[in-house]
Amino acid sequence: MSSPTATLSLKQRQADLSSSQQQQELLQAIELTHTSFNGDFDAALASCGWKTLTPAQLEIFQINVGKLCNMTCRHCHVDAGPDRKEIMSRETIEACLHALDQTEAHTVDLTGGAPELNPHFRYLVEQCVVRGKHVIDRCNLTVLLLPTMEDLPAWLAERGVEVVCSLPHYRQRNTDAQRGHGAFEQSITALKKLNAAGYGQADPNRQLTLVSNPVGAFLSAQQCQLEREWKTGLQKHHGITFDRLITINNMPISRYLEWLEQSGNLQTYMELLVNAFNPGTIPGLMCRNTLSISWDGHLFDCDFNQMLELELQQPGNPRPHIRDFDLDQLAKRHIVTGRHCFGCTAGSGSSCGGSITSCQ
Ligand code: SF4
Ligand code: SF4
Repeated sequence: MSSPTATLSLKQRQADLSSSQQQQELLQAIELTHTSFNGDFDAALASCGWKTLTPAQLEIFQINVGKLCNMTCRHCHVDAGPDRKEIMSRETIEACLHALDQTEAHTVDLTGGAPELNPHFRYLVEQCVVRGKHVIDRCNLTVLLLPTMEDLPAWLAERGVEVVCSLPHYRQRNTDAQRGHGAFEQSITALKKLNAAGYGQADPNRQLTLVSNPVGAFLSAQQCQLEREWKTGLQKHHGITFDRLITINNMPISRYLEWLEQSGNLQTYMELLVNAFNPGTIPGLMCRNTLSISWDGHLFDCDFNQMLELELQQPGNPRPHIRDFDLDQLAKRHIVTGRHCFGCTAGSGSSCGGSITSCQ
């Protein structure tokens, strides 16, 4: 199977923006003094009574098991691709499980790259299921067509794993533009395999969630309105069913940041994000109830901070690692924020769980 290729990774091209420092500098250099809060996220927080962003109860372990991916989507915030060799080791996975056992977190959210390509993926899933956790596999769909993944839909179904699949749009043109030529057709084939394994038919143990993100420099439309449209469209044209749709804003980091800059959309997109700041999203920000763990075991407030290499600020530990997990100290931290955070607070809000506020 040829993998869809929308671009090469920034790292492979040795692009300036492969450096997280360069990404931060580019974001910081944008002239935003004419926008709300002068483009300052801390000022936006202060305007609604938050001196700093603080964590709530830890509910979700989001484990990024590696940057290896069979795709190279244009909007990828991980800069993942077939050339990325960073993969979580079995030793780090054991440290994650040990830490998980010290918490009451109910969900383990597995992300990447393509998490299924980590050779320890099935072991990790199995161990989390044994512990009674709700497991999420963030799946790019096309990976399910690889010969080694033939049995994976049924394997995941037997274990009650929720499959959360990226599909930018239910129309071919929009999806292929972002993910690469042929991505749509392969995604449809993979969705049919998931349906055949019992996914997407209102069975709580076989939940199929689709993720849509805008194909351009604009915010997601209302999640519930899109869900209705997609359910009708996928059923009518392809006979596919799914349980729910979540919408995620594109974050101005990594390959999407590069695209914004090269297409001349960076200034207006940042203005859009800042001016659409919604105070109602703050309590539900995912950094408040989620711990993000990188492939090499370092801890971050969220997957976006992880990609910008903004390390979590745990009191007494400047570069916390999962093997030194300390729940009490983590609860005392202040979440690290920056201009990219406006991507989470714009409009209805955006997180790995979709919109933060409900549809009006
Ligand atoms: S967006 Fe997802 S599927 Fe696409 S390259 Fe990044 S990790 Fe892979
Ligand atoms: S990017 Fe979003 S989730 Fe991450 S720290 Fe900022 S507001 Fe929180």
